[in-house]
Amino acid sequence: MFHIRTRGLLLDPSPGGSFAEDEEHMRLINRLAASPLERDQVYIRSMYLCSSQVCETDWRRFSDRALEQIRDKVVGESVLAGHDKRSLPVARFFKARIVERPEVPDPETGAPTRWVRAWFYWLKETQGARDLALNMDGGIYREVSISWRYRGGRCSLCGRAPRSCAHVPGEVLDGARCFIWIDEVVDVLEGSLVYRGADRETGIAGERHHGVSESGVDLERLLLFEAPLLVGEEARP
Ligand SMILES: [Zn+2]
Repeated sequence: MFHIRTRGLLLDPSPGGSFAEDEEHMRLINRLAASPLERDQVYIRSMYLCSSQVCETDWRRFSDRALEQIRDKVVGESVLAGHDKRSLPVARFFKARIVERPEVPDPETGAPTRWVRAWFYWLKETQGARDLALNMDGGIYREVSISWRYRGGRCSLCGRAPRSCAHVPGEVLDGARCFIWIDEVVDVLEGSLVYRGADRETGIAGERHHGVSESGVDLERLLLFEAPLLVGEEARP
């Protein structure tokens, strides 16, 4: 079992929902809330958590099965701000679905990519709640990192276990890119909101191109925030 994470995921800023959708959301939220909440007590937003694309940071790719496991496991997990695991969660995921996004085609096949879209809520009456909403809707908080754990994995070129073959993830062999298929996600630990002063295009590209297209400032911030995360995770039993 390994601990790794991916990042560069785009917040969906559209807060609106139909009456029926609001009712469904409140039913799901109230499964998690200790005392019943009304619609006007909560902010609700959603994010595209991860996709069927190859992640160019670690050359891993979720299979359909893995995406479904993430969809199922993320509900009830925490949304953190700024990767700070020492602080309490700022929001909680309450619903997730697999959606196709034709506007983000697969670079190889041109087919729509598949994403886990996750909805989360937080309480309006809490300190900083409105700032969080303003920062999300205003495009300041655009992305998240997720922490997840998986088991196994297989080489995209030969199907063998990672590191048991001669193929190197990220390398191109006879026109085919080597990456690691992830079929079994055992845990989704949390999602963290990330400040990033990028435009929409960079935000979408983030998952596929981060590490290449990111500015030095982004990378520096990422490292700063992720160092304590690593320590925290590895201390887990
Ligand atoms: Zn191989």
